[in-house]
Amino acid sequence: MSCVFCDIVNKKIPAFVVAENKNAIAFLDINPIADGHTVVISKKHYANLRECPDEVLSDMIKLSKEVANKISESKLKPWGFNYLSNDQKIAGQEIMHVHFHVIPKYGKHEGFKFGIGTHYVDEVKKVYTILNKK
Ligand code: AMP
Repeated sequence: MSCVFCDIVNKKIPAFVVAENKNAIAFLDINPIADGHTVVISKKHYANLRECPDEVLSDMIKLSKEVANKISESKLKPWGFNYLSNDQKIAGQEIMHVHFHVIPKYGKHEGFKFGIGTHYVDEVKKVYTILNKK
């Protein structure tokens, strides 16, 4: 099955690579929502965070930190960052290859905004009981 992110890893298509380590590679998002918006992906193909081995996730998070520090120390000077991984189409995942977005925040109304859903939300205590039922 073809995967655009695997094509970037295999250098079949170009990307603006900003950092790399053993298991992960980071490049600028082709359709950024803020200057410096970066995608950090695993070098091997895994569909999402839940399927990705811990060692690979660890390298992805370390690389996300490295990228955020690189952006912070650059002339871009954001005020903060959002780190995001979409899992499944309903959650906004377009590319079915695990990745984190590193999105610089330059102002309250710019970049990524964490939305509050309107879906019925159950009592926190009830949800806690569901999660901890033996
Ligand atoms: P998601 O919606 O979480 O799957 O995000 C996928 C992201 O990958 C989107 O923000 C796209 O703009 C980005 N993207 C897709 N193709 C490329 C590409 N060839 N190079 C860089 N970024 C890409």
